[in-house]
Amino acid sequence: MKVNQKELKAKRIYEKTIRLLDSSQTELRQMRSLLKKSINALALSSENDDTEQRDRILKGLANGFDKNSDLSVLDAMLDEIIVRSELSSELVVATAANEEAGGFVENDLNQMLIEFINRLSLQDDVKDKRQQLAEDLAYPITGFSAWADIINKMVEVINDSISSMEAEKQELQRFINKIIQQLADIEAYVSESRNESAETASQSAVLSESVNADVKNIQDSVSEATDIDVLKQNVQCYLDNIKNSVEENKRELELKEIRARESYDHMMDELSSTQRESERLKEQLQESHKQLLRDDLTGLPNRMAFNERMAAEYHRFVRSHTETSVAMWDIDNFKKFNDRYGHDVGDRVLKVVSNLIHTRIRKVDLFARYGGEEFVLLMPETDLASALSLCESLRIKLAEADFYYDKEECVITSSVGISCFRAGDTIEDVMKRADIALYQSKDAGRNCCTVSDPE
Ligand code: GH3
Ligand code: MG
Ligand code: MG
Repeated sequence: MKVNQKELKAKRIYEKTIRLLDSSQTELRQMRSLLKKSINALALSSENDDTEQRDRILKGLANGFDKNSDLSVLDAMLDEIIVRSELSSELVVATAANEEAGGFVENDLNQMLIEFINRLSLQDDVKDKRQQLAEDLAYPITGFSAWADIINKMVEVINDSISSMEAEKQELQRFINKIIQQLADIEAYVSESRNESAETASQSAVLSESVNADVKNIQDSVSEATDIDVLKQNVQCYLDNIKNSVEENKRELELKEIRARESYDHMMDELSSTQRESERLKEQLQESHKQLLRDDLTGLPNRMAFNERMAAEYHRFVRSHTETSVAMWDIDNFKKFNDRYGHDVGDRVLKVVSNLIHTRIRKVDLFARYGGEEFVLLMPETDLASALSLCESLRIKLAEADFYYDKEECVITSSVGISCFRAGDTIEDVMKRADIALYQSKDAGRNCCTVSDPE
């Protein structure tokens, strides 16, 4: 049945969105836990005046949030620091209240937190708060309690976002249940109609049997009649019987028709209300998809979109060994660029770079913002040599593009690391090789592409 297929398709889309929301939530929870732990660990290092430890934490945070390469390592390190210091969280709160001992001005941490909040895939309704945080972070922040305050605000934004995702998930789940119920209703209606027509058929059989019996009685009365008055009376009586049966049957049929129409109307009402709700949810869903899978600044697919697609391409590779390459892109010396021209100009450059590359690749390729000033290009059905030649041409295009700021020409270059799937690889393996190749490009002086060790 057509309706069923349409509704089932909608159900699958909703379920997929729920899965996406789930993984966003998981990521947010992980980030939240890291933030909370880092507050504790930073508080402990400031308490003990252990600057070496503090640098270690900051570096770990910066690496962790910058590349998301191994958050569990960072997590374990924070645990270790906290446990080793043998201080309970109550003491940490007390430390926060004790106010700074100075020296907590940390530009890197500012930067790291900005990158971090940019990376979060948050729901629309917390975006004002996120904006506020970004503005707070634009100024130097001094003292532990100020830091703790900022990090706590982040945790709050994350919490809001998680609950808002939860509400969305629940609404979708409720709608899925409604669709399932509606499918059951339609099925029940169809089988009921079938039963009713069978019943109507057997009812008319009963009617014709009773009419036949009365007609036979009339024939018998006529052939056996001796008295005209008795005959008249009998015939009249049988005719009345027939009339009653027919009328009763008609009444029953009418009643049945009314009931059938009512139940049909009811079902149609329900269906159109579901359809209206479905339209509304579809819009909401499109919005939510956009939010979950697009990067706000550049409009490119984000890391989550990349991960989804990467998983699909990976399965394709495992099934059919189609050559698939991946390139990690990183803008060169972007920190210096920001320092010189300002963060806003940096943002504009990220948009231009995104557009420049995005518009020059095939439809099957995926160019995504991986985080900060890092991008990733997924090239299905492309061997290493072709991937290298594509990336080289894109890298040169970017280096030769004319960027102007206040009539001053700025040169933007990028470094690239390329790898491809090999038999026995996991997704992490291929990403790791691309990353190593990227670092080789940086070591080689930047503005170049490196292919990960060919077999
Ligand atoms: P390298 O050549 O080694 O990659 O040097 P780099 O300065 O590009 O790399 P690093 O990782 O030290 O710094 C990355 C910089 O990218 C830091 C941060 O200010 C900047 N950045 C990250 N995300 C954004 C963003 O959304 N907007 C702007 N304007 N800058 C960003
Ligand atoms: Mg980088
Ligand atoms: Mg860089």
